[in-house]
Order: sequence, then C-alpha cells, then structure tokens
Amino acid sequence: MSFSTLGLSKPLVDAVAEQQYTKPYPIQQDAIPAVLQGKDILGIAKTGSGKTASFVLPILELFHRAKAVKTKRVNVLVLVPTRELAAQVTEVFQTFGAALPNPVKTVAVYGGVAINPQMIAVHGAEIVVATPGRLLDLVSSNALRLSDVEILVLDEADKMLELGFADEMDRVFDLLPAKRQTVLFSATLGDAIEEINQNLLRNPVKIEVINETENLDLIKQTAYRVDAERKGPLLRYLIKTGKMQQVLVFVSSVRTADNVVVKLTKNGIRAAAIHSKKTQGARTEALATFKGGKLTVLVATDLIARGIDIQFLPYVINFELPRSPKDYIHRIGRTGRAEASGEAISLITPDDEHHFKIIQKKMGKRVEMIDSAELDLTGY
Ligand code: AMP
Repeated sequence: MSFSTLGLSKPLVDAVAEQQYTKPYPIQQDAIPAVLQGKDILGIAKTGSGKTASFVLPILELFHRAKAVKTKRVNVLVLVPTRELAAQVTEVFQTFGAALPNPVKTVAVYGGVAINPQMIAVHGAEIVVATPGRLLDLVSSNALRLSDVEILVLDEADKMLELGFADEMDRVFDLLPAKRQTVLFSATLGDAIEEINQNLLRNPVKIEVINETENLDLIKQTAYRVDAERKGPLLRYLIKTGKMQQVLVFVSSVRTADNVVVKLTKNGIRAAAIHSKKTQGARTEALATFKGGKLTVLVATDLIARGIDIQFLPYVINFELPRSPKDYIHRIGRTGRAEASGEAISLITPDDEHHFKIIQKKMGKRVEMIDSAELDLTGY
C-alpha cells in the first residue's frame, strides 16, 4: 500500500516521501480514501497514530483537485483544543500545502495572544485551524464567517470537552451550514463524543486505532505450562473454575476451532466458532450471539479475529500461539480495550516454550508462567 494508491496526486506523494513517510499508517489507509470520497469520519485515535496527516493530506488533495483556491472564504475549519495543537496542525498543512502548484492559505487562531493580527491573518484564509473561544471572537467581530465551511474537522474532540469547550463548540456548530463534511478524531469514545457523533455526523466511516503496546499495561497476562493432550481439559477447567462469561479463544486452524467447539459443547459450555470455512451469515450470527451474552465462548482464527470489535471483552485465551508476536499482541489487545482491564491466558506446551520466549521479548514484557501439572483436571 502506498500513498499514491490512496488517491493522492504526485505533488503530495512527493512531499510525503520528502518527509520520510515510507508508507501510510493504518489510520491513513482508512481515512484518506474516505475523506476524498466526501464521507464523514469518526476516528478513535491518539497522537502518534498519524491522525494529522490522515485528514491534512486528503483535504489538500481536494484543494488541489478543485484548483479553485482563489475564493475569499473559509472552506475548511479545524477545531482543536489547544494553541500548541493549532500551531502543530497548521504547520503540517503548510508543509504539505507548499508542495501544491496553487497555494492554500492556512491560518492558526487561538486565544492568549492579541486578536488584531489574527483578524488580519484570517482574511482570505481557506483553512482555519482554531481553538473554539477565539474562533467565536473572530466571528463576532466579523473577521470571518462560518456559513461557507465545507469541511469541519474536530481534532482531539475529547480533550476539547475535557477543557470545558462544550458550550463554545455547540455555538460553533450552530453557525455551520448543515451541508458539509465532518471529520471527528478523539482518543476515546465516551458518551459525550457519541452524542456529537449522533448530532453532527452522517453515516460516518468508523476508524479505530488501538495503540496496542500502550494498551498492554491494562491486560493481565498469564501462561500455563501444559502438555498437548491436557490442553482441552485445562481450557474447560479455566473457563469453569474462573466462572468466565465471555471468552474469546484463539486457535491456529479451522480444524482445531471446530474440535474445540465440539468438546466445549459436550461439556456444557456454550460455544461457537468463526473461521473462513463458515458462511458470512453464520459468522455474523455467532458474533451477534456472543456479543449479546448468549454464548460463553467464541473460538476464532487470526484471520477472522482482525475484524472483531467487542467492547469490554474480559478474557482472551490463546489455545494455540500465533506465529508472529505482532499477532499475539493483536489478539490480547482484543481485551483491555477502551480503558477497561482484561485478562489474557496462553496455553504453552513444551514445544511452544521457545517461541513464547521470543514473543515476550518482542513485546517487552515477561508473562507469569504457571505449571498446570499439579492441577487435577479429571472431569473437565
Ligand atoms: P500524529 O499522530 O498526527 O501526531 O503523528 C505522529 C507522528 O508521526 C508525526 O511526527 C508525523 O510526522 C509522523 N507520521 C505520520 N504519518 C507517518 C507515516 N506514514 N510514516 C512515518 N511517519 C509518519
């Protein structure tokens, strides 16, 4: 995947290369084409994910395509919580914008400094990056109007709310035309953000970037040393004695997935599998039943698990280890999401020990190993 395949034209692709961006980050892969198609975006992403370029690049591309950059009005409004972020985002617009044949005027406005120079600066600006309070001051002194905004970007929306900008934001929203494109980024998805989503966004494309390594601290990780033939009983023992209500179990093949489900079901544990050999309908149904709490265990292969989004999943069990450490982190990242804590348990056979050491090294975390030899698994 390259920046040019995402729909950016040559000047921007070259500018991106100059910034040493070798390939698009995941958020950019998702957001750039969607913004270019005029879609609304609900992005859950933190600083460091590459979120800034994910809206700056397609917006500049739209300017480049329209070429009608001589208008004396605000086309794009980016609302940010702080002066620092305003300056930072403006700089990214200016750096990449400089690569375009037709200049795009980007101006940052924020409080804490004299308003007069900003009143002059916003004249003819096509992209205004603003903190909410100062923006309203500029509007009330007729330095700019918001009725022509075509694209609204809310960057770090949760932080804006946290800083007490809710009223100002509402007042800004009231001044915007109803017909526009809205891009919202927030590090977290809480009730207030959900409300903005409901009120402001139309059928948004949802993009979530989980900073997996950071997330690991929220996850309690344990591993059981176990002989291969005792894995099934140990799995059932853990589920039953742990009184687990919702467990995502990972396996490495379709066959194992089906076998595990058969055994769990025989032992009175409600389970279903999702893997590539199941029809889309069966997968959707299994996932819905699992999410609805009517299924205790969902057994999945890695390929399918990529798309699973379940909030507050309490347990992940690696019945078999994945080959790559990255997949291990991705798997256990299914739990402990959205700031909720979770537990990840791995079943390690003697053959897995070496590989599991590599995984721990790559992850930069040691996992507590429990010997299961002493556990009495009869009846499980
Ligand atoms: P952000 O999350 O927007 O604050 O970006 C975090 C950092 O990643 C910034 O320093 C960007 O310059 C950098 N960055 C963004 N996208 C890429 C990319 N595709 N490749 C390399 N670096 C990037």
